[in-house]
Amino acid sequence: MPTDHLTPIDSSSPPDDILKVRNLVKLYRGAVIPAVNGLDFTVRRGEIYGLLGPNGAGKTTAISIICTLLRPTSGTVNLCGHDVVNNPAIARTLFGLAPQELALYPNLTARENLRYFGRLYGLTGRALSGRIDQCLALAGLSDSADSRIDTYSGGMKRRTNLAAAVLHTPQLLVLDEPTVGIDAQSRNMLLENLKGFRDAGMTIIYTTHYMEEAQQLCNRVAVMDRGSIIATGTPGVLIDQMEGCSNLEDVFLHLTGKQLRD
Ligand code: ATP
Repeated sequence: MPTDHLTPIDSSSPPDDILKVRNLVKLYRGAVIPAVNGLDFTVRRGEIYGLLGPNGAGKTTAISIICTLLRPTSGTVNLCGHDVVNNPAIARTLFGLAPQELALYPNLTARENLRYFGRLYGLTGRALSGRIDQCLALAGLSDSADSRIDTYSGGMKRRTNLAAAVLHTPQLLVLDEPTVGIDAQSRNMLLENLKGFRDAGMTIIYTTHYMEEAQQLCNRVAVMDRGSIIATGTPGVLIDQMEGCSNLEDVFLHLTGKQLRD
């Protein structure tokens, strides 16, 4: 995959903690049990951090708070030294979000969508056009860039969603189940893109229900259940620590149980 198309982030800076989530709580209006309940985790610069959990564990809620779409009931989120709740405008320049629900205008082309989002990020002129071309190429969309999104396949839409999220070369890329419902080719391209972004110094938070993806891709994972983290570590260490587990899916089922979560 053409990683040379990426604008490299300054990777000479020492490894540090880019995101600190502390004692985060979210109680939705009318709910009795918090969706996020005392969540604590730290993401290090340059890693792919997997946020895993069964349906309803609180992953999207946590991501929505980190990305300033939702206010927490209590607790703090610090991104690159900025409190995201008190400084949402600064935070929005630092992260890129590819949400679970596609955030694209269906009646615009991919290029028009990227131009719209690029302007929101303050990019203009040649810098914007150049970056759009780079991101379209990365996502394998150069040849179809001028077709409307509503003519795209599911995989093309997901890839456009990712291109929009990295347009402004964010410090932190947040992906909420980016590989749902796409074919093996698009999935492979997305995963290769993410490795390329990491190699260029970007930090990534990644949620997925596909444990083999997380095992292959993530430097560290956190397993969430009922709003809290119940285990964290590298996939390899978690697998080694848990008796009878030979892969991350075994670890996940061991930790969260086999009962259905509806
Ligand atoms: P999934 O894997 O299914 O996407 P998730 O781990 O992302 O699940 P959330 O979507 O964060 O989990 O949901 C956590 C809990 O909060 C669930 O019980 C859900 O029903 C509840 N919830 C989510 N959004 C709202 C809302 N807007 N109002 C009330 N409750 C909500």
